[in-house]
Amino acid sequence: MNDLDRFLSKVKKHPGGCWEWLAGRSSNGYGEFRTYGISWLTHRFSYINFVSNIPLTTQDYICHSCNNKGCVNPEHLFLGDAGINARHAHETGVQAKPNQRHGRKDTGTNIFGKGISFDESRGNFKCSLRVGDIRYQARKATLTEAIAWREYMENLYWGNNNDH
Ligand SMILES: [Zn+2]
Repeated sequence: MNDLDRFLSKVKKHPGGCWEWLAGRSSNGYGEFRTYGISWLTHRFSYINFVSNIPLTTQDYICHSCNNKGCVNPEHLFLGDAGINARHAHETGVQAKPNQRHGRKDTGTNIFGKGISFDESRGNFKCSLRVGDIRYQARKATLTEAIAWREYMENLYWGNNNDH
């Protein structure tokens, strides 16, 4: 089973409606999905896989037109920024609270999970792996390359015991 099939096996599709995430949730109520040793927010994973594979930055919000945090239906997801996000929240009657925004603003590290972050000043991905006292680091132009680097390094140093 590839990652996308595994992802979809955890989704209940309501006909003509939301695709409800059935597995783990973050403390903020968004779905979480682990692959490549990285914990993804499911609506971001869905957007990247079904809508656009352009790497998301910390400035990008993936918003839900349905206001359902657990929904991963790509037709209900749209790319916004802080302003669009706030306006949409206002128009749909969703109040933006300081720590619980409708379309969550992620920091660089928790978008891509442990070991990969987007460096806005350089416009590339910084990846690292700690093995004992040594921290290995690399910079990659795309998220795909960053994930491949992490996977290669993990297999090299930790062995591949995962069934992904
Ligand atoms: Zn939805």
